[in-house]
Amino acid sequence: MRREDAMALERSGAHEPPRRPASPGPIAALLRHPRSDPPAGEASYGRVAGKGVDVAHGVVLYLEDISVRFDGFAALDHLSLAIDAGELRCVIGPNGAGKTTMMDVITGRTRPDEGRAWFGQSIDLTRYTEAQIAHAGIGRKFQKPTIFERHTAFENLELAMKADKRVRRTLFARLDSAERDRIAAMLERVRLAHSADRPAGLLSHGQKQWLEIAMLLMQEPRLLLLDEPVAGMSDEERERTADLFVSLAGQHSLVVVEHDMAFIAKIARKVTVLHEGRVLAEGPLESVQADPRVIEVYLGR
Ligand code: ADP
Ligand code: MG
Repeated sequence: MRREDAMALERSGAHEPPRRPASPGPIAALLRHPRSDPPAGEASYGRVAGKGVDVAHGVVLYLEDISVRFDGFAALDHLSLAIDAGELRCVIGPNGAGKTTMMDVITGRTRPDEGRAWFGQSIDLTRYTEAQIAHAGIGRKFQKPTIFERHTAFENLELAMKADKRVRRTLFARLDSAERDRIAAMLERVRLAHSADRPAGLLSHGQKQWLEIAMLLMQEPRLLLLDEPVAGMSDEERERTADLFVSLAGQHSLVVVEHDMAFIAKIARKVTVLHEGRVLAEGPLESVQADPRVIEVYLGR
């Protein structure tokens, strides 16, 4: 591995892409996709990975009355939202609803003007830095994969593992066999075992996304935030991503923001609809799809 790549990864957080303006999406498709069969496996606190976060009441994240204002405009307007440990929550809503801003608040990138963001019972994320939040067990997947293209898939996971602040080992030490097994198992999990020795730059778009998710998973996040994870993926890659997310729930808590309603329909359990910086509706997909206020918001645009 190249030392400068390793150092870049060590400064994790510094390799995030800049904040993008909201992109247009075919949101009216909300009404076109009926819910598919419920995914197998329900939330289970006992199996949740991560340490040091007190989820005694089964809530991994509680946003309490969060407001974010940009020049007086409320991107988040007294938003309150609770995510259970092990839950797979889908968040939808029109462009500009505040979805990405919500993730920015959870990851410490944006400080709210009002409110608290509780990670478990006792960690107030609004008082933590981005690095402390990542360290505490919150991983975030951005749209553009931030992988090391000239390194193999295996080496990318090796770098991610060694950058884990909880382990604090040298980046240049050799892997032991347990560590190699762990990386191999993770590659298997994201269907990249056959590409372990390929440079990451040669992987397909979807494979790169999975590799980045695997890099996040190497750090065993308690909570994983995914902003538009299937954008640009083929239909088959979307199917596989849906299977992966469903398999991760229970062990991790996931918050998935996505415009692709066919994808949402495949993974959805509880869905939150954001609009103008607050929760417009929440519940099973079929009930939010039937909610007149939700229909109004999507069709009225
Ligand atoms: P979504 O992800 O749901 O499309 P965003 O959270 O990106 O929505 O944006 C919510 C609102 O806040 C939008 O009107 C957007 O233009 C505004 N906004 C987001 N970030 C900034 C910023 N850094 N400065 C000014 N306005 C912003
Ligand atoms: Mg967004």
